[in-house]
Amino acid sequence: AKPLTLEKMLHVQGFGARKLCRILIHQGEVRVNGQVCDDPDAVFDLKDLHFTVAGADWQYREKSYLMLNKPANYECSHKPQHHPSVYSLLPHPLVARDVQCIGRLDEDTTGLILLSDDGQFIHRMSSPKWKVPKVYAVTTKHVVDDHQINALLQGVKLLDEEETIAAMACERIAERLIHLTLGEGKYHQVKRMLAAVSNRVEALHRISIGHLQLPDDLKLGEWRWLDANMLAQLE
Ligand code: URA
Repeated sequence: AKPLTLEKMLHVQGFGARKLCRILIHQGEVRVNGQVCDDPDAVFDLKDLHFTVAGADWQYREKSYLMLNKPANYECSHKPQHHPSVYSLLPHPLVARDVQCIGRLDEDTTGLILLSDDGQFIHRMSSPKWKVPKVYAVTTKHVVDDHQINALLQGVKLLDEEETIAAMACERIAERLIHLTLGEGKYHQVKRMLAAVSNRVEALHRISIGHLQLPDDLKLGEWRWLDANMLAQLE
């Protein structure tokens, strides 16, 4: 990437209008590689550029890739109806950069969700063609028997769908807990599949996407950047 002035860099990273960024800089709120820089026209190489705005640490990123451990009672929407938006869990510059959830989780579903402002990445990750496997821990109302597991693996007919739909994998963890792997993400898919085998979802938690697992130390409501290693696990 070609070098940018500090003002422009802050602007493209989501810190607001150019004018506002200028004021922030003049106020001495911005540090670059550890030093206060109060010159909006100072030019920086964007590679490994670390900066601080009002005490918060950032790194220049051309695109944003992150994961969130979604809590229950949050909605994957910019216009939530009943609960706060998951976007309210992110720092404002990321929302200003227009990061989007890649696939939605229901308001009562918890666990791993990816977000990005890279249109190509979003498209690829959500394309049914790629069938990126997603694993859900599903707590059910009734005991899951072999008959149900076989049906989920063979394919079940969902209401309002022509084709039957099958899980890529289904593993029984406990009497009322399965790990269900799906290659697509249709509306309420897990709940509808469990209903199709006369069971019912009591709790739903997504534990992985591709080879990327929700880290044990990422608490509900917390987010983190995806590093190059984690991105490779989505391939
Ligand atoms: N399937 C569902 O039913 N709900 C989700 O949130 C995700 C998958």
